[in-house]
Amino acid sequence: MAATVHGFQTQVTKLLDLLANSLYSNKEVFLRELISNASDAIDKLHFMSLTNQDLIKDDPNFKIQIRADKDSKTLTISDNGIGMTLDEANSHLGTIAESGTEAFMKNLTGDAKRDSQLIGQFGVGFYSSFIVADKVTVVSRSVNAAENEGVRWESDGNGTFTSENISVPFRGTQIILHLKDSETEFLDTWKLRDCITKYSDHISTPVELYEEKYEPKAEGEESKDTEKKFEYTQVNNAKALWTRTAKDIKEEEYNEFYKHISHDYQDPMTYAHNKVEGDLEYTSLLYIPKKAPWDLYNRTNEHGLKLYVQRVFIMDKAEAFLPNYMRFVKGLVDTNALPLNVSRELLQETAVTRKLKKALTKRVLSMLDKLSKDNDKYNEFYAQFGNVLKEGPVEDYDNKDAVLKLLRFASTNSDDATAKVSFDDYISRMKEGQDKIYYLTAESYEAAKNSPYLETLKNKGIEVLLMWERIDEWLMGNITEYSGKEFVPANSQDLKLGSLADEEEKKQQESAATEHKDLIERFKTSLGDKVKDVVVSTRLIDSPSCVISDANRMMTLQMRRILEASGQSMPEEKYTLEINPSHKLVQKANAETDDARFAKWAQLILDQALLSDQGALKDPSSFVKSMNELLLG
Ligand code: ADP
Ligand code: MG
Repeated sequence: MAATVHGFQTQVTKLLDLLANSLYSNKEVFLRELISNASDAIDKLHFMSLTNQDLIKDDPNFKIQIRADKDSKTLTISDNGIGMTLDEANSHLGTIAESGTEAFMKNLTGDAKRDSQLIGQFGVGFYSSFIVADKVTVVSRSVNAAENEGVRWESDGNGTFTSENISVPFRGTQIILHLKDSETEFLDTWKLRDCITKYSDHISTPVELYEEKYEPKAEGEESKDTEKKFEYTQVNNAKALWTRTAKDIKEEEYNEFYKHISHDYQDPMTYAHNKVEGDLEYTSLLYIPKKAPWDLYNRTNEHGLKLYVQRVFIMDKAEAFLPNYMRFVKGLVDTNALPLNVSRELLQETAVTRKLKKALTKRVLSMLDKLSKDNDKYNEFYAQFGNVLKEGPVEDYDNKDAVLKLLRFASTNSDDATAKVSFDDYISRMKEGQDKIYYLTAESYEAAKNSPYLETLKNKGIEVLLMWERIDEWLMGNITEYSGKEFVPANSQDLKLGSLADEEEKKQQESAATEHKDLIERFKTSLGDKVKDVVVSTRLIDSPSCVISDANRMMTLQMRRILEASGQSMPEEKYTLEINPSHKLVQKANAETDDARFAKWAQLILDQALLSDQGALKDPSSFVKSMNELLLG
């Protein structure tokens, strides 16, 4: 049978072009990727063989072998893993998942060094072969296939590949790289040994390198150059990293292992390795990455821990061991308490999973708590994952307080727009007699910081937490207190100031209400059903007006916007307008004798308030028009 010529998926062609021509620094990553694929292939077969020993009886010792041939300038990476059928080779080595490639392309920066590190992250590792090779031949036989149903796949990386069935006498896969003339350093066994140690020391399968046999010379013996002997020697230590004693493991080893399992190119932010004995025995190795993955907020985001049972790899991305708001955590859990044939569905239901989830959640919380003692690191972490953490207090009621403790916000205490203030910080600065935590949600940091709602609180020297992330309003709508202190929005009608409200002020306000009865009535009549009510403000100092919504707002502003954007018609929300009778603008309006002109003033004062509350108006052009009329006198 002649080999069939196939065109690569367009995305692959683009990618290959890029790999071959621009990603020339840090070339050795290709070896990491190919060893990682070989190790994945072996893990898969190992898992299958648990229930069907026959699959591996003719070749039971899993290994990865690496062999350079100086004459043919080839480097071959072999494994006796699961192998590929012709169809699998065509699809796995000819196409890439759309989402992954797109994201990869989008994330490229033009900085070759950084870009080359991104390869593994997006499931395009195999193609990194073309960084060093101008032709790649793959010979493979699937564990399920007969000898004559082996596969040869070949490509020079220029838009097409060929593939055909051939006879292959062994199970597994050989990747044969025909090295570019400029890349022959990868034929040197010293260089290879160096790379393999770096990238595969933590891999639990032996990685063997074909190298010159070292024979101690007998006394006085001349070296016999002509009779060099070669053999395979194991290069890595092939003991699963997490089964070793923590104190014997170097930080670099933990970091390298992290890169292997996460496909991240950077070191992790922090990690925790724990062996737990007793009732429920397990080992966990958990990592917190430095950077959020591109799809952290996508519904398609895949996450979860690697699951091992008695050191055998069972499944990737097992979501059942951590709550969703910890979906940024990478790592693994290895336990004897689950059966080897556990399925994803079964996993969801067992008591062991629930216990592990509880324990691992606590572990992550304590990792974060520890991290939060280092301000710089924690800020870096929080900028990446803070918003995911905010899902926690609602999703994980049992750990509500522990998660709330980890949240950070900006506040009126400083001019810093980064979120650095914890609820505990806030409480430690509370004024005497204050027993509420005040916060304000707005469209942006600036909108929050300059909001008229803050005027009285600021005047009293009361700190207010400033929030503007989409999730904040939802979060605050779902929690009521922290450490016994009630949360009060700064824009609520009743600020619940308690002893902080001074009596004098209260009396003044009450008399103000009677004093300005006519003014209020005038606004009410003029604005009619555009507002719910008009009242004299108890909070405004520098601003003429503000709007407040019901204490128990039925629907948050953000939610409203989302629903409106999706085409749902919303009942118009009506606000109570607060006016500040001592403000010049209000006085000027009141001095207007012509009712038609007063109506324009009233509308302007309402629109202003809506604008600073919501950052937008339904009808901005009539606002501008009537403002101009009034400005021109
Ligand atoms: P990823 O490893 O992230 O899936 P790669 O580009 O590295 O992406 O590999 C693509 C696919 O090719 C793998 O998912 C696997 O199905 C197949 N593959 C690659 N190398 C091997 C191998 N040595 N044995 C079996 N299958 C392999
Ligand atoms: Mg891979």
